[in-house]
This record gives sequence, structure tokens and C-alpha cells, in this order.
Amino acid sequence: MSAGECIFCRIVSGEIPARRVLETDNCIAFLDVSPLAPGHCLLVPKGHFDSLAQMSAEVAGSMLSYLPALGKAIVAATQADGFNVLLNDGKAAGQVVPHVHVHVIPRKEGDGLGYRWHPQALDDAAADALRRSIEAGLGG
Ligand code: AMP
Ligand code: ZN
Repeated sequence: MSAGECIFCRIVSGEIPARRVLETDNCIAFLDVSPLAPGHCLLVPKGHFDSLAQMSAEVAGSMLSYLPALGKAIVAATQADGFNVLLNDGKAAGQVVPHVHVHVIPRKEGDGLGYRWHPQALDDAAADALRRSIEAGLGG
């Protein structure tokens, strides 16, 4: 997808309006247009990346370093009791907009929001193999 076709690139450039709460050298944050709760924001890199895995540690790290302050400000503004940080990476993970974005969603006790979380039994041999494989993928 070219930047001209990407809705979040168009928000970054100012072509499409958004209710911005933060702008830095390499990221912006703005209110989600269809929030799961009032105050739901998206933290977005200015550069176009489909996946977090395409971003350098420096650029991703800089963007993600704003999460503590953003979460704190959202909780204060909404009198929330907590917040969720969510990144849907890939269609299978629920990503609809193919430009990296981190959801920051304020939560209140008993708000009824949630998601399916069905833990599976851990197979020891499979887990050992996976541990080795992931460690090798990290260059260990
Ligand atoms: P995801 O399913 O993780 O790709 O989430 C995409 C999010 O982008 C959804 O929560 C949408 O409500 C939000 N969204 C889409 N278009 C806009 C827009 N123009 N301004 C603000 N948020 C948007
Ligand atoms: Zn984009």
C-alpha cells in the first residue's frame, strides 16, 4: 500500500483530520474515531510500516516510550481505573488498518469490555522446542 492510500499516513500528513493528543519527531497519537471506551487513543509512527516487525528498535522504542505518559494522561482525563495496551499485528490478529498502531484503551471496573482468553495446556516437549526456536530467532 502506498502512503497516499493509507488512512493513517493521511492523518500524519494532515490531509485527514484527527483529534491529536501528541506529536513528536516520529509519532503521533490521536483519539480513535470508533472508540471501545471514551478516551481510546491510537499511537502511530509517522513513517509507514505494515508491521511492528518492520520497524527498527530505535524508531519503535522511541514511539513506545510515550506509552507510560499517554496511559497516565488518558486515565486522568477519563477517571479510569486502568488501561489496556493492544497492538493487532497482521490480519489474523485483527489488524484492519495496515499501518502500525497501538491502541491505548481506558478501563473502568465492571465496564464489560474484554476479549476471549482461552489458555491452552502446555506441552513440555513442544514448549522446549519453541523456546529454542524463538531464542535462535533472536540471535541467541
Ligand atoms: P485495528 O483493528 O487494530 O487495525 O484498528 C484500527 C482502528 O483504527 C479502529 O479502532 C478504528 O476505529 C480506527 N480508525 C480507523 N480510521 C480512523 C480515523 N480516520 N481516525 C481515527 N481512528 C480511526
Ligand atoms: Zn501508512
